[in-house]
Formats: sequence, structure tokens, C-alpha cells
Amino acid sequence: MRMRQLLAVGIVLAVAMGAVWLGAAPGWAQQPRYATTKVADDVYMFRWIGHQALFVVTPDGVIATDPISVEAAKVYREEIKKITPQPVRYVIYSHHHFDHITGGAAFADTAIFVAHARTRQRLLELMNPNVPLPSVTYRDRMTLELGGRKVELHYVGRNHTDNSTVVLVPDQKVLFAVDFIPIRSLQFRVMYDTYPMELIESLKRVELMDFNILVPGHGPISNKDAVREHREYLQDLAAEVKKYLDRGVSLVDTIRQLKLPKYEKWGGYEQFLPMNVERFFEYYRRGV
Ligand SMILES: [Zn+2]
Repeated sequence: MRMRQLLAVGIVLAVAMGAVWLGAAPGWAQQPRYATTKVADDVYMFRWIGHQALFVVTPDGVIATDPISVEAAKVYREEIKKITPQPVRYVIYSHHHFDHITGGAAFADTAIFVAHARTRQRLLELMNPNVPLPSVTYRDRMTLELGGRKVELHYVGRNHTDNSTVVLVPDQKVLFAVDFIPIRSLQFRVMYDTYPMELIESLKRVELMDFNILVPGHGPISNKDAVREHREYLQDLAAEVKKYLDRGVSLVDTIRQLKLPKYEKWGGYEQFLPMNVERFFEYYRRGV
């Protein structure tokens, strides 16, 4: 009896630790370097270390997203080949950040590169030789059709960047969104490139979209609850920061004192809360 109880406690602990471990950024070394996971019919997630991309297989070819890196893209291509002999016809960039979209040359022999118009503009400014420029761009919404499948690209406003694309596979109700919806985790560091208030509006738009499965650029596969929870986190954070500022508390003291215990179990709480606070403090103090 005692043994059985101990065993049960052990299993519960392992599950609890696993959940924490999956939600947090560190600890990837304990997993294989890459994996391909079936998410829905003909819809897959490719994970490379801590970065993830979505691809859709059709009888006439593959619609892929984010090549991730030069090294990752070669493996990504091999992983797709294990599922279908069809070539990659489209590569969609989620946004212009290089940690997600480097290495597209691995697909350039057969694929057309697609992104938001401002993604192309950013890439023209940055001129990274390892990032093929998108030749097809859109501004509000675009549908790609291939082999009887539809894949939609939606622009939901400025958020993590001014050019993030949300990819929807409507018949499977799968949504792919990168970096602006951390799954039960705080925003990364000081939210470089982010428009804090517009990010909240952007999340509201995502909440109105028709999907059941959320595939993020990092972290566990989730659902619409994660979007709502993250929007609530940002709203709670913004309201709390504003209170400190209105009381005349300095940035340093706000960072030291402001806590959001409701989110203390979330990934990056200790590390990123001070930086997330700073981002909103500067937004309200200086309007930047
Ligand atoms: Zn990013």
C-alpha cells in the first residue's frame, strides 16, 4: 500500500514537473534536437530545438512555414520527405525575425516565398543573405490554394512586430502564431520590437478567429484558452504598472515591488517580469 502510494506520488510529481518543463524555455537539451508531430489531418508541426514551424501536406505539394535556421531547414526538408514525395511549393514567413526564418534556400528550388508586405520591406533593409526575399506579399488577408487545400494568411495588427502573419488551416481549425502568444509564459525579455497596447488588440482579433488548435512558435501545442489567458496577463500587467506610475513610483522601485502572483507559475516569471514591467512603464511614462 505504502509503495503504491509512493509510486502514485512519483507519477503525479513527474507529470507536474513535465508540465513545468514543457512550458519553460530551458530544458530543451533533455529532448531530441528535432521532432515532427502530426497536429491534424495532413497538418504537422516541425520542432527544431526550441523553435517550431507548421506544414500542410497536399496531393500537389506542401505549404510550409518558417525554415527556422540554415541547419534546421535541411532537417525540416528531410522530415517532410519522410511524409510525402511532393515538393514544398510555398514557404510562409511568420514575421521578419531571423531566429525563425533563416535558411529558406533549402526550399528555394521548388518554393515561392510568401509574407506580409512589411516583412519584405524589413528584409530589404536588413539584407541577410540567408533569408530569401518573399516574392508574394499581402497586406490584410490572403488564401493559398494547393491540391484542394486552403491555407489562410491573416494580418491581425501590430503586435510582436509590425508584420506578423497568423496562418490558419480552416478545414482543420488549426492556427499557427509565432512569438506574440507565449503559452502560459511571459513576454520575452523587454519585448523588443513590440507594440504593447496593439498587441492586446491583436490578441482580441485572434480570439475571434475560428480555430481549436494553436501551434505556437515556441512551447506546447495549445488552444484558444492560451490566447485569452495571455491577453488577460497583458491587461493585468498594464493596469498594475499604470497604478505604480500614477502614484509616482520610480521605474526602479516599480520593478522591485510589482508582483503578479496569479502568473507566478508561468514560464519566465522571475526572469522576465521585471523586463515586461519596464516595457509597459516606458509606454505609459514616455509614450514609446
Ligand atoms: Zn520574433
